[in-house]
Amino acid sequence: EISSVSTSSFLSDFQSKCATPLPVLKQVADAMESDLRSGISTVAGASLPMLPSYVDSLPSGNETGIFYALDLGGTNFRVLRVLLRGKEKRVVDTEYDVVTIPQELMLGTTEELFDFIASRLALFVEKEGDRFQIPKGNIKREIGFTFSFPVRQTSIDSGILIKWTKGFKVSGTAGRDVVACLNEAMERRKLDMCVSALVNDTVSTIAGAHYWDNDVMIAVILGTGTNACYIEDISANPKLRHLNSTSEKTIINTEWGAFSSNLPLTVFDKDMDIASINPGEQIFEKTISGMYLGEIVRRVLLCMAETTELFGDSIPEKLTTPFSLKTPDLWTMQQDNSDELTVVESILEESLGVYNPSLHSKKVVVEVCNSIVTRGGRLAGAGIVGILQKLNEDSKGAVLKKRIVVAMDGGLYVKHPHYRIHIEDAVSELLGPEISNNVVIEHSKDGSGIGAALLAASNSKYN
Ligand code: ADP
Repeated sequence: EISSVSTSSFLSDFQSKCATPLPVLKQVADAMESDLRSGISTVAGASLPMLPSYVDSLPSGNETGIFYALDLGGTNFRVLRVLLRGKEKRVVDTEYDVVTIPQELMLGTTEELFDFIASRLALFVEKEGDRFQIPKGNIKREIGFTFSFPVRQTSIDSGILIKWTKGFKVSGTAGRDVVACLNEAMERRKLDMCVSALVNDTVSTIAGAHYWDNDVMIAVILGTGTNACYIEDISANPKLRHLNSTSEKTIINTEWGAFSSNLPLTVFDKDMDIASINPGEQIFEKTISGMYLGEIVRRVLLCMAETTELFGDSIPEKLTTPFSLKTPDLWTMQQDNSDELTVVESILEESLGVYNPSLHSKKVVVEVCNSIVTRGGRLAGAGIVGILQKLNEDSKGAVLKKRIVVAMDGGLYVKHPHYRIHIEDAVSELLGPEISNNVVIEHSKDGSGIGAALLAASNSKYN
């Protein structure tokens, strides 16, 4: 007789392996702090890239004029124009467009991808209304280019792609200046614009948030992928002294998705990593971000279906198909408060091809979703505390004595309310009730778009 593991004992074993009690969170926060430090003080072999952004003065509020932003970082790219009117009036008008990137372009050539972007940008510029007319004269429309992949910047308006992440595998871009790639595509289209600032989405998010609230010191993105940046003191870091900033501050793009120390990983995480297009890389990203949470749950459910009674004897093909379960499906199932869990049932049917699951099985599915979402949110919170600990230590305890704001953005953060609560829980457990009162974690009002346009303005080539 074949002995089968009971569903309940599988579940409790799984839950203990991905649990995030306070001691685990503390180890993650401490490891994050230490990896941030080693990343910034050593050049080679550090665990975190800690990329200088060349942004050393954030928009002041005095910026005026019309500026464009272009945002490439995930499944969509966005184009935006803003009309700025200085300290009092601020942002008086914005227009934007969102374009989905065809899957084949994410796996195609550099020229194909950038030609597509330039053509969509050109269409958007053609629709520029009267109130957005740029001044006459030999002035090009300026772009803040948010490019959310690891880039080694060489100046505020140039940078070399280190590698693609988040499901992009475009040939020929790694090792090239992405601004040059865009410029060449714009030239092919006879589109007369220029890139004044090349920034990561975390950097444009911090710029946009700081424009409204000067206590913003950290920005975190939790969407398809994840990343964080923060405002760093140049004098505290030997590796940064060459930057010659007048402000003594600069923004560091941590690329924290690459973090991998002390994480409570399961065999499902390890298998997903091995099967991914970038095995061994971006482990923190694979544990906490939107691209992966649904897939981890699918892998757990498939293994449970194979080794326990969860869904009866047959294994539906969809359940064996990678990425058939999406992260938004997790939230849909977690919210189901019907007696018979009918919403869970319809997702199991539509996404995974599982029919007529028992009520008990549906409850188990929700438990698995809860475990993976809870772990993700709590680990993201521990990561934030790692950055806070570094800033606090460097400032000899000053940073956490007063209000400090963490600007958040990204589809996972915005659209999954439980995930958000898990972040806050972890931060307050780690810092204690008193100190965590000073830490404000909030959704960035404008997203990264306006921040990038503001950075184009504050780095304008014309003043
Ligand atoms: P991107 O990171 O691709 O630029 P977003 O910041 O909008 O775009 O994030 C999109 C990601 O957010 C999706 O990949 C998805 O995983 C996640 N997401 C969107 N809606 C939800 C939801 N309701 N619940 C959980 N995750 C969601």
